[in-house]
Amino acid sequence: MNTSRATPTSSPAAPAARPALRPLDDALAELLTQAASLAGLGTVSTFEADGRVLAEDVVSALQVPPEDNSSMDGYAVRAAEVQHAGTALRVSQRIPAGSAGAALEPGTVARIFTGAPIPAGADAVVMQEDCEVLADPQGFIRITQPPKPAQWIRRAGEDVMRGAIVLSKGERLTPASLGLAASIGRNFLQVARRPRVALFSTGDELVMPGEVAPEQMRPGAIYNSNRFFLRALLLRLGCEVTDMGIVPDRRDATLDALRSASQAHDLILTSGGVSVGEEDHIKPAVQQLGSLDLWQIAIKPGKPFAYGQVGPAHFIGLPGNPVSSFVTFLLLVRPFLLKLQGASQVATKSVTVPAHFNWPRADKRREFLRVQRNAAGGLDLFANQSSGVLTSAVWGDGLVDNPAGQTIMHGDSVQFIAFSELLS
Ligand code: AMP
Ligand code: MG
Repeated sequence: MNTSRATPTSSPAAPAARPALRPLDDALAELLTQAASLAGLGTVSTFEADGRVLAEDVVSALQVPPEDNSSMDGYAVRAAEVQHAGTALRVSQRIPAGSAGAALEPGTVARIFTGAPIPAGADAVVMQEDCEVLADPQGFIRITQPPKPAQWIRRAGEDVMRGAIVLSKGERLTPASLGLAASIGRNFLQVARRPRVALFSTGDELVMPGEVAPEQMRPGAIYNSNRFFLRALLLRLGCEVTDMGIVPDRRDATLDALRSASQAHDLILTSGGVSVGEEDHIKPAVQQLGSLDLWQIAIKPGKPFAYGQVGPAHFIGLPGNPVSSFVTFLLLVRPFLLKLQGASQVATKSVTVPAHFNWPRADKRREFLRVQRNAAGGLDLFANQSSGVLTSAVWGDGLVDNPAGQTIMHGDSVQFIAFSELLS
């Protein structure tokens, strides 16, 4: 842990120095070194494993498909016996999916259906659209299109070889990976334990929707919006959430909340109160009970961010401004929670996309602009990029990662991070 404090030591002569802004990549790297994998595994039904992080290599005890099978409804043939259009052959057997046929009699074909095993001796399938069923002689077909050898055959093991690792430890399970695990017979999977997260919001101005009607809100009051998206984001990342509600801006209340949150949780996550005004009680309270570093991260939105420990629990304090809170969660807390679960991929992926807007004023900090992809393959900018405007995060479908000191001209290539990447 970094034990240096952001607060300068007091010296009556010199004015307090502003703490240096910290690059995002540094802050993330340090956060990730703190995120040792959680002890303890879970075994879950494959049905319930979506989004969880695998804690084992999943090895196949069989090959998929188990044997060569037909990818069409049609007729299994010996290709060498069907060199010319118009060849008529007798249908000697019928093989529906789920049954195994006998070896194919020379000079005959087998009626076959999609997924049914190819009978021994056959080396191609002619789809039924390329055959005519003859009335005379009965039980014969005429093939209108001679087959190429091996056509319409799915090869044994073409999806999965016996002994292959089909899913690796550290992978985050998706709907497709659940299907793949099931295809090799796995109805249970070993996954990382769910992180237990205690969540609370600070701020005397906060009111819960439902408790006070909009027309009855007292002056200065606002609804607690962070609580809703933070909870939802945590759940999407596989966490168990203890929602501790709103904690008033008082030292004793903050200490009580932290003490109770530090029990039986892996992470305490808060929003608000991490600046250094006298109404910001998080820093002194966490320092009293454990340790805390207040980081001024060189990003916009989202400058203040706190990391520390209270007893056995990690502590992360997010800024109160909703968009700052949202963005710092996605850029820092998300990778942290994935790393706690042993995920091998925690980096945020971006792609290069042309900007269809101008951003003429460069900022000292690296900016994460809320943008939307347009039908022309470019990005449009939400007009109001203020850190309090949550509408921007709803309208947007991702962020432009704009380096410090960079202006953007219409047509410039920029780095785009899709919310679809970040919100899964
Ligand atoms: P703070 O970081 O506590 O100084 O808060 C910064 C700004 O974010 C203030 O305008 C707060 O009113 C606002 N804010 C803090 N927490 C929340 C929250 N949970 N929901 C909505 N706005 C909040
Ligand atoms: Mg506050």
